[in-house]
Amino acid sequence: MKKKRGLTFKVISALILGAITGLLLNLFAPEVFAILNPYVFVPVGQIFLALISMLVVPLVFLSIVLGTAGLGDPSKLGRIGIKTISYFLVTTTIAIVIGLGLATIVQPGAAGDFDIDAATYSPEDAPSIADTLLNIIPKNPLEAMTEGNMLQIIVFAVFVGLALTALGDKTKGILSLVEQGNDVMMYLVGIVMRFAPYGTFGLIATAIGSQGLAAIQAMGSYMLVVIGALLIHAAFTYGGTVYFLAKKSPIWFFKTFMPAMTVAFSTSSSTGTLPVSMEVAQRDLKVPKSISSFVQPLGATINMDGTAIMQGAATMFIAQAFMVDLTLGQLLTVVLTAVLASIGTAGVPGVGLIMLAMVLSSVGLPVEGIGLVLGIDRLLDMSRTAINISGDAACALMVAESEKKHGLETEEALNPQEA
Ligand code: ASP
Repeated sequence: MKKKRGLTFKVISALILGAITGLLLNLFAPEVFAILNPYVFVPVGQIFLALISMLVVPLVFLSIVLGTAGLGDPSKLGRIGIKTISYFLVTTTIAIVIGLGLATIVQPGAAGDFDIDAATYSPEDAPSIADTLLNIIPKNPLEAMTEGNMLQIIVFAVFVGLALTALGDKTKGILSLVEQGNDVMMYLVGIVMRFAPYGTFGLIATAIGSQGLAAIQAMGSYMLVVIGALLIHAAFTYGGTVYFLAKKSPIWFFKTFMPAMTVAFSTSSSTGTLPVSMEVAQRDLKVPKSISSFVQPLGATINMDGTAIMQGAATMFIAQAFMVDLTLGQLLTVVLTAVLASIGTAGVPGVGLIMLAMVLSSVGLPVEGIGLVLGIDRLLDMSRTAINISGDAACALMVAESEKKHGLETEEALNPQEA
């Protein structure tokens, strides 16, 4: 715990230092910035992003196999799966609408003069909607892994998990191999995170150094829009879920889940936070282990409400900065693609921004616009990741409550003294 707090402190210090360095260079020594940026700031930021990307595929695969195998009976898996995925879809849609709505009211993109010609961003190939939805069954699982197609990897992992359950003792060895593989990946996430402060420094110095003060001030209102929307979503959507569907106190929920939210904030990785968020959910929120280890890894991979909020707000922001008016039809397209984009976003730092390219291109907005929000995205990534994992925990709590009537043993039933 102490170590994690140290990391949060370092990342925030790096943010501030990077921002000051970028700003000072921008104001007083732009020629020094022009030399330092391509050789120091950009590479440091990119190394960090590459290190994180390296871990995504094996981590997602291993945790979903474990989650599915942990659930046992396939019919239970089907019922819990439908509830979980429906919840994820509904709350993610609400999240985007809140993000779009608040950005429409506040108009953060109209506040400053943006050097839109200087906005640069080279898009990764964001998948099309058809690719995302229609091809969820991998023809070749290894290809899915090489391409980093998360949904295909999840589908394959669920199949493997089911097979491990069906084969039971026969495949005990593979199950413990998967468990150990998962431990190795989690360990590596910890190692890579040590580089986070440097990566943060590089990313923010680049962004602030290459933009003027007016742009940064305008970014301030964009940041407030995103953070405001995150808070509204947490209070109403999750508070409502916990109160009405899980029959628990929302204050108790957020207070109890806070340690996991803090880790998510410091690591900016839902997947990296998974061991902590599952532990807190099982031990303190009393979610049965079988539900938690299915709902939470799946949620850490496909349920990204905080990311969806950012994608909605960022799309509005970029449209405003480029002075494009979005029609109602385009807004609906944004909602649909942002749901898909957040499903396709892996639970690691910064991926939500890469997937934003898919949302922007769906309505013909320039993908270079991502360059405008890139610099301050690290801080927002921290905040939205804390929300992302809270949604998974709220869902786990809701599923646990609804499964009670199906006679699923709760942890309380197993440990009556704790009830
Ligand atoms: N960092 C986020 C997460 O892990 C994903 C993103 O929005 O980039 O939940």
